[in-house]
Amino acid sequence: MDERRALSPDLVLDLGNKGILGMAAIDRADGGLTFDQQLKIEEQLAAIDITLAAFVGVNNALGIVPIRKFGTEWQRRHLPELAAGRVLAAFAFTEPGAGSDPRGMESRAVRQADGGWLLSGTKWLIGTGKWAGLIVVLANAFDGNKALGATAFLVPNDLEGVVQGEETLTLGLRAMVQNHIDFENVLLPSDAVLGAVGGGFDVANEAMQLGRIGIGAIALGALKRCLQIAVRYTERRQIGDGRLIDRALVQEQLLENACRVSLIEHAVRACGTALDTDGTVPVAFSMALKIIASESTWNTVDRTMQLLGGRGYDEANGVAQMLRDARVLRIFEGPTETLATYVGALALFKTRHFAADLQSFLSEPELPTATTGIIHLFKEAIARLPASGKSRRIERLSFELGDVLSWHLLAETLKRRVPDPLDAVRVWTDRIIREKHVRADRLLKAPVPEHHSPIWHLLVQEIETDFGLGPAFKAYERQGTDALLRPVIPPAVGLR
Ligand SMILES: Cc1cc2nc3c(=O)[nH]c(=O)nc-3n(C[C@H](O)[C@H](O)[C@H](O)COP(=O)(O)OP(=O)(O)OC[C@H]3O[C@@H](n4cnc5c(N)ncnc54)[C@H](O)[C@@H]3O)c2cc1C
Repeated sequence: MDERRALSPDLVLDLGNKGILGMAAIDRADGGLTFDQQLKIEEQLAAIDITLAAFVGVNNALGIVPIRKFGTEWQRRHLPELAAGRVLAAFAFTEPGAGSDPRGMESRAVRQADGGWLLSGTKWLIGTGKWAGLIVVLANAFDGNKALGATAFLVPNDLEGVVQGEETLTLGLRAMVQNHIDFENVLLPSDAVLGAVGGGFDVANEAMQLGRIGIGAIALGALKRCLQIAVRYTERRQIGDGRLIDRALVQEQLLENACRVSLIEHAVRACGTALDTDGTVPVAFSMALKIIASESTWNTVDRTMQLLGGRGYDEANGVAQMLRDARVLRIFEGPTETLATYVGALALFKTRHFAADLQSFLSEPELPTATTGIIHLFKEAIARLPASGKSRRIERLSFELGDVLSWHLLAETLKRRVPDPLDAVRVWTDRIIREKHVRADRLLKAPVPEHHSPIWHLLVQEIETDFGLGPAFKAYERQGTDALLRPVIPPAVGLR
């Protein structure tokens, strides 16, 4: 599948026939699966192939969930065909100018005299885009010149003006298409709106919230597979006078992999339980899970490749594809930096809301003092900041705080488990948290930089003098290099 850059049709049919492509479409009361069961299936799929899990995740969390939760009776009539996998769904939010920060979104939907909408814009990197029969599209809605806010629309792929563009040849997830989609004055009926006019971010947030938890489950499957492969190899591999697994360094590495599995497993189960009982997981927790799960997977797959030496680098042994596939987990559904900055800002500026949501999720009367203490330290540091450059510094501190807090939040779910005799996971997690605190402390005590030194400008000038600008302009066009990465930006693109 990976080499051919396509899923085999029989596999897609099989996933549909078994209900896996439509896990999120059926109510539990009608025989559907619990959220926790769905997360376990995602985990198992990822242990087989991360691409497969991502494909199933897009259809369910990003495609079906918004339709099920926000769709009208008329829109929900699509659910049975989506549940059976006869029609696939995609979610089109990202644009060339709006990725990690969706405020740059330029797609427009203008209300027509008959109540319908005229949709125009370009989306890109859309998973399952050209395979999907139905696309959830986000666009800024207008009534004449009046802005109505970001709005979600359910757009059938076969409408006139929906132009499925070229595939992006990505590093990983190769078996699953990601492509450009142009919406060239697509006429939509009034009932194409999904949710409320102006309520597009509610729809997107709901989908991405489940998407982030799903990434936690995908990461868990990949981490477990890494542990299995690493133990298998190091137990069998003789190096010098003994087995690789008996080396102290290797044992530390395996312990770290096992601790990451355990920490993330507890967090994923906590999300599954919460979704199955009161239906909510705090946004900060889902982001913390996504951050730690995706970073852990990248770290661990890389480590597994290293442990396997040349066999890790050999495509035949599976780890190479896992490495390529795992990399995107840190980027999509919000890059780590964006999410950590958001979590930190929530804790700093909506502290009560942040704490109340987490307390109820963790069933704790209050957040632990270590968690509230670090928030307090950052707040104090922000209060002392000089006015000049303050917002840049706040953003930087928010990222750091979000990173530390993510570990605190996941560590809280460990309290629910039966501790192993050595309490190894707790000890390992506490050590990471202590290291993060030291780093945060250093940052808080560092003098606020007045402005950044332009050292990289000087170096880049030197590099360009020594190496030139790169291949000729035409060569970049042939390779399809993104306009923002060419030596000269074509006039049509402009800089945001
Ligand atoms: C394989 C794949 C599948 C995808 N599928 C879909 C899909 O189905 N639907 C969809 O809508 N989109 C999809 N995407 C798009 C994805 O969501 C975006 O790539 C992602 O949101 C990042 O946006 P961007 O690529 O424009 O990066 P940019 O917005 O240019 O960000 C670049 C980098 O800047 C850094 N950064 C961002 N904010 C900050 C900050 N505040 N401080 C410091 N650093 C920061 C981060 O490291 C980030 O990675 C997919 C992407 C990939 C690669």
